[in-house]
Amino acid sequence: METMKSKYNIFYNLEDSDESYIVNPLYGEADFLDSRRSAEYRKGKFTNPDEWLEKGYLIKSKEEEDRSYRDKYFKFIEERDESEVQIFWVPNYACNFGCSYCYQEKYAPSPSENTLEVQKAFFSYVKSEFAGRSKYITVFGGEPLLPGTAQKELISALIDEANLQSLSLAFVTNGYSLQEYIPILKKGLVREIQVTLDGIGATHDERRPLKSGGSTYSQVIEGIDAAIKNKLTVNLRVVLDKENIKELPAIAELAREKGWIGSGYFKTQLGRNYELHSCQKNSGILYDRVSMYRDLYSMIREDPSLLDFHKPAFSLSRFLWEEGELPEALFDSCPACKTEWAFDYTGNIYSCTATVGKSGEELGTFFPEVSKKEDLIDEWESRDVTSIPECKGCSLQLACGGGCASVAKNQTGKILSPDCRPVDKLMGMGLSLYYSIDKIKKYTE
Ligand code: SF4
Ligand code: SF4
Repeated sequence: METMKSKYNIFYNLEDSDESYIVNPLYGEADFLDSRRSAEYRKGKFTNPDEWLEKGYLIKSKEEEDRSYRDKYFKFIEERDESEVQIFWVPNYACNFGCSYCYQEKYAPSPSENTLEVQKAFFSYVKSEFAGRSKYITVFGGEPLLPGTAQKELISALIDEANLQSLSLAFVTNGYSLQEYIPILKKGLVREIQVTLDGIGATHDERRPLKSGGSTYSQVIEGIDAAIKNKLTVNLRVVLDKENIKELPAIAELAREKGWIGSGYFKTQLGRNYELHSCQKNSGILYDRVSMYRDLYSMIREDPSLLDFHKPAFSLSRFLWEEGELPEALFDSCPACKTEWAFDYTGNIYSCTATVGKSGEELGTFFPEVSKKEDLIDEWESRDVTSIPECKGCSLQLACGGGCASVAKNQTGKILSPDCRPVDKLMGMGLSLYYSIDKIKKYTE
């Protein structure tokens, strides 16, 4: 019988091992392959082809595979159309921090007289435009929780408007004034507050000082502590590059000592410091995805207790390890203009957080009147691995999803272009790490 390999097999070496893995996101199958079976796969000479056929690693016909792909794609689109929309609201671009890696530093934070009025218009637009969709608002900046009475009134009004529509809220803040905002935030349906902490003491202060140059570390820690004590969930973000990655164990230790880990009100995420729109002063400290994950891999092997603080995804690895099965095939990893939109106090509409406020990226207005650049919106909306020419032939596509449209557009000038994710290499590390972690734990005990 004539057989061929599935186009969607991802086959790669496991880090620090003679074995390999094979993952097929279309059929939801994943296996470790010992050296004999790896060699079989490489050579394409199978002693028991039925085994491979059963899992979909081998297929009988391309047409049959194309049919399965189409079915899964329609299901994906259907589910995406039903899923919750994240709507970003930027009440100001002004910020009291002068972070070393800020991509917004060139955005003119011109103050506005009528933000309250624009904010009202934003909420009516959300009510009509997203009627019937499940949704929540993420308040973003600049810094939305700036000190001062006027800003507190603005955020209080925002919470009142959100409460009227029973909308839950998330905040993205530098954390400096978080503590003084807690009584205000407690009036809303706040699902989480994202705060960035880049290190302990001086490391954080050097990267995230006040614009005027002062230290921010202690006040940020107090803010996080107060939020958690008040049962507000904190999503702690650490933005990593080669200069501060060594701080991770100390940040994890702090989170443990403070009782944040295990409080039920604490989540974490690791961000990668990278070039978004403008060149950073010192791009030599930046990681690419593979090198950042390689360092994380080594650090966790050395100290598995870091996983109590954060479990990096390593593409599909963590999901597979935790859930015992693969997630659905990922035809699109960029939610912009599908399940994500952004709006700012100047009355403009954008695709997402990466483009909001950037001149030339406007997709329309909601104030003083509603207008939309339909052609552009359609292009953003259509972007997935079926519409990006480079992705069509790529075997990684259903784990990668085409990456970030904004990064791709900055590199190529086109929305329908790829932002490749090294998912094969990431899974080589992640699967090796997670599936040996119990052994590592025993070894270190
Ligand atoms: S363009 Fe990039 S930042 Fe924006 S939603 Fe897509 S993936 Fe996210
Ligand atoms: S963005 Fe690159 S790696 Fe991802 S599916 Fe497209 S071609 Fe493949």
